[in-house]
Amino acid sequence: MTQTAHGVEFNKHLSATPKSVEEREAILANPGFGDYFTDNTAIVDFKVDADGNGGWHNARVEAYGPISLDPSAAVLHYGQEIFEGLKAYRHADGSVWTFRPEANAARLNKSARRLALPELPEDYFLGAIRELVAADQDWVPSGDGEALYLRPFMIATEAFLGVRAAREVSFRVIASPAGNYFGGELKPVSIWISREYARAGRGGTGAAKCGGNYAASLIAQQEAEANGCKQVLFLDHFNDDAVEELGGMNVFFVFKDGSLATPALTGTILEGVTRSSVMQVARDMGREVSERKITLAEWRDGVASGEITEVFACGTAAVITPIGVLKDETEFIGSEDAKTGDVTMAIREQLLGIQTGTVEDTHGWLTRLV
Ligand SMILES: *Cc1c(COP(=O)(O)O)cnc(C)c1O
Repeated sequence: MTQTAHGVEFNKHLSATPKSVEEREAILANPGFGDYFTDNTAIVDFKVDADGNGGWHNARVEAYGPISLDPSAAVLHYGQEIFEGLKAYRHADGSVWTFRPEANAARLNKSARRLALPELPEDYFLGAIRELVAADQDWVPSGDGEALYLRPFMIATEAFLGVRAAREVSFRVIASPAGNYFGGELKPVSIWISREYARAGRGGTGAAKCGGNYAASLIAQQEAEANGCKQVLFLDHFNDDAVEELGGMNVFFVFKDGSLATPALTGTILEGVTRSSVMQVARDMGREVSERKITLAEWRDGVASGEITEVFACGTAAVITPIGVLKDETEFIGSEDAKTGDVTMAIREQLLGIQTGTVEDTHGWLTRLV
């Protein structure tokens, strides 16, 4: 097996005790988000010696189960970890597809460079997804808005407390059947403004998809929930209150003239695959889209004057979610009884249509898995 070979071989030792059809169907009837996992997992290990020899090896699919780690494993102490998120969609003819996986493979490697983890050749990334979904294809739900959420991740497994990049690493993919992320029907959510906390700073890891960013966002998320909000908005609050993003979703604004804008990538914002797809879909609809700075003041004034007509958040897990209210102790922008805007809805339907096979995929975004 070589790293450059197209179509890496995965050894298969599939679960000897998969869930019964009845158990699986009970789960698929109400999957929630991130609560249940399929029978198997894909794994590729990495090891190099001090001379730099070695690399990725032992690609396999095996039974889903606990990971055995030495208590000194680097990931447990220094958080050397990155992850990805994408979905497998069931089309009407029963086939299973995924959306822009090459973009996730590329972003994983961008995150890997920032976290001093080894880059994973794309063939391994795509191979792991393909082999896992093939093994667990019965877990891909077919209901409206449902999909199999795929979570690739990479952890530093080397047993070593010295502070340096680990020489032993594991790449894994787990899969979880998913329904609607925020639960129930699509309605605008309320968002809490984080004034005290940042999820990322200049020169930090904001543009990498790593667990540490999420750990840093949880206290702000708790504050949001305590105030009746679903998510938190992070701002560049040490400077000019430039809007960055939510804890795990990018933000878009729709203007009176039909154009859209989203915060420019400054290094503190995660470059979402959904963000880039929304920009393309909006342009395909003949809309102008700009990436620029949008401050909290522009949001407040724009909603008040009618210049900004819709605001929405986007990401793989929750697709496109309208934002009804943005608030904190001193601020209240929007309205509790806001309805989902027409532009938000049209972009959402177009994107979901491409992903689920009911709208033509003119950009070659879909990859067939099964
Ligand atoms: C994953 C993620 C997003 C959304 O990215 P998608 O590729 O669209 O799912 C946005 N912000 C953060 C912080 C993320 O981790």
